[in-house]
Order: sequence, then structure tokens, then C-alpha cells
Amino acid sequence: MDVASALAAVTGMIDAGKLLRDTGKAWGEAELKLKIADLVDRMHETQDAMRDLSDAIRERDAEIARLKREAEERAATTYEAPFYWAARDGQRDGPFCQRCHDADGKRCRLIDGGRGRWNCAVCSTGFDGPDRAAYKAREDAMLRAPLGGPFVG
Ligand SMILES: [Zn+2]
Repeated sequence: MDVASALAAVTGMIDAGKLLRDTGKAWGEAELKLKIADLVDRMHETQDAMRDLSDAIRERDAEIARLKREAEERAATTYEAPFYWAARDGQRDGPFCQRCHDADGKRCRLIDGGRGRWNCAVCSTGFDGPDRAAYKAREDAMLRAPLGGPFVG
């Protein structure tokens, strides 16, 4: 039920009450009971309408709260390739998945895979972090280094 229907139910209840107030003494008991029953029915309709409106307002309030939270999160999110970072209580929080953020609007925390690799547990995307190149250079240097040591050679 919408607001217009709720107002119509209240108006009908008021009209029925006025009718009882203004002409009630002229009616017989049976007629008076019918008018009161009609008034009670209208009160029930109004109560139903108010419940529906209350539910609609509660749903709308929850939606507004969700949209506010999302807007605040968006405002507190910055992109520094290849990750997103969030500001929380004056601290940098993250990193978060670029793919999940851009495609789905979600902030999914990345898992440190070690050696400069980061992984998203939601979409399975892997990222090379800023220090990945240094790890890779060290690993490549170790692979190119001749085998040897004090007892070999
Ligand atoms: Zn992801």
C-alpha cells in the first residue's frame, strides 16, 4: 500500500467517525453496531497501511545507509598501480584487488603470496607488487651464478 492509499484509509476512518458523532443518537442499536463495525474495519485497513509504510521506510533507510557506506568507501579509496588502497582511521589499509573493484565495485583484500606476488581469493587474479621486480632480479642472479663454493671447483 502506498502513501495515497494510507491517506485514503485515514480519510475514510475520519468520515465514519464524523458520521457516528453527528448522527449516532438517531440510529437504532443494530444500525449503530454496523457503523462501529465499519469504523473498526477502516481502522484495521489504516493499521495495515501504516505497517506497509513502516516497512517501506525501513527498506529505504537501509538502502540509503548502504549507498552512503559505498560512497564513503569510494571516496576513501585510491589507486596506486597495480592495487587499490583504502584510508581507514588515518591509516593506509590494503592492498585491494583492482579487478574486483573495477568490475564489481567490491573491495577484496589481496593475500600476500610472497616474493612480491599478491593474489585475490575472490577472482583468483594475481598481481606483481612494486617489489616483485627486485625479487625477480635476485632470483635470476641466483640462477645465473656459477655453482660453487669453497669445496667445489
Ligand atoms: Zn579480485
